[in-house]
Amino acid sequence: MPEPQQISTAKRWLLRARAGLREASWTLGAAVFVVVALMAARRIGLVEGALAAFLVVLAALLAPRRRAPLADDPKSQAETLSTQLDAILSGLPDPVLVLDRRGAITGFNAHARAALGEIRIGEPVSFSLRIPEVLEAVRGAGVSGAPQTVLYVERVPVERWREAHVAATRLVEGEPKAIVISLRDLTEQRRSERMRGDFVANASHELRTPLASLLGFIETLQGPARNDPAAREKFLEIMRAQANRMSRLIDDLLSLSRIELKAHVRPRDVVDLASLVRGVADALAPLARERGVELDLSAARAEVHVRGDRDELIRVAENLIENAIKYGQSGKRVEVGVEDAADGPRLVVRDFGPGVAPEHLPRLTERFYRVDVAESRDKGGTGLGLALVKHILQRHGGRLTIESAAGAGATFTAVLRRANVAKPDPKLLKRAS
Ligand code: ADP
Repeated sequence: MPEPQQISTAKRWLLRARAGLREASWTLGAAVFVVVALMAARRIGLVEGALAAFLVVLAALLAPRRRAPLADDPKSQAETLSTQLDAILSGLPDPVLVLDRRGAITGFNAHARAALGEIRIGEPVSFSLRIPEVLEAVRGAGVSGAPQTVLYVERVPVERWREAHVAATRLVEGEPKAIVISLRDLTEQRRSERMRGDFVANASHELRTPLASLLGFIETLQGPARNDPAAREKFLEIMRAQANRMSRLIDDLLSLSRIELKAHVRPRDVVDLASLVRGVADALAPLARERGVELDLSAARAEVHVRGDRDELIRVAENLIENAIKYGQSGKRVEVGVEDAADGPRLVVRDFGPGVAPEHLPRLTERFYRVDVAESRDKGGTGLGLALVKHILQRHGGRLTIESAAGAGATFTAVLRRANVAKPDPKLLKRAS
């Protein structure tokens, strides 16, 4: 890096004078013209003329300058630099701190204050950022000048993963290097990585369980039960149920990933929720009968128009009504209603079974979360039904609410967006007929 040039006092004055004269060049030109004109008209003599010209030039030199400060003025240079630095810091998307080489804070942005709380200029960075690894990196960057990256986790008040990038950089030629710390919040990234990992592990586990059972029965049928027709019938029935479970699980996994792919695209079709729910209730009537559950449908006769994807809304109604029949079987009755409420059309499914204890409620829509894993498997559940319902409703701009108390049944409400369909003009209808 070239060494900064030292400017002598005489040269600085010369530069100032040149800038002053350049700034006042029009005024000077006019003044000299007037003096020369007066001398030509013999109104003033040579001495007075020279004196007047000297005074005009002196005034131009001493007059305060209005334009940008000279590049060689260290004070104004420092002010300009500080303003520019503030502007750059406030434009950055991450928390950033600037330190002097002793580790005292000389600048920071609003994101840094939001992330670290109270920060004071001039205080050691260790007062605001109490992460030993980062402070070590600050010392290291100050000594070696090499940038360093540190990954750390804050545990309180909530778990937060951050990456600190520490670099020594020269902000002003000839000045010692400043240390810049930028923090990147990796919490979301970590969380989604962990969720993806958990999801793959859960999905593999869910598939492996029926697969292991199938392999076990195949071995038994090839070996000890080879010549036992009664055992064969029984085992084949279990194998069919296990294969069906795997197939349902794969269907649900594929539906979930399809819905995630379209998560940001709002469905635009107009669907009549009332007739859709009537259709689903009719299809589930045999299951309700089989479980001894009375299905009480109060879907409005009039059409209830919502914006939606027909197949996805069928999945919502199927999952909620089927769950109510399966898990609320002991209540012997399930009420299904379609209402055109003020804050949006809704499907309400209410059962009178054991309900859900409050500690489980917030987690019910998580993938593979079940209150009772054995019960869910026993009833042919995949643990993905309510996760699918939640994702479908989110994509529809709607929401799912669950109200329940242990022992008092459960109410699942899917709220959707109303589609305002213009009613046909009766006059036009008459004319057409
Ligand atoms: P599953 O395939 O296990 O039914 P879901 O995602 O549909 O998966 O439901 C998750 C869990 O929520 C179920 O395993 C069950 O424990 C609970 N659950 C769902 N609906 C009801 C209900 N109507 N009453 C009681 N518990 C329910």
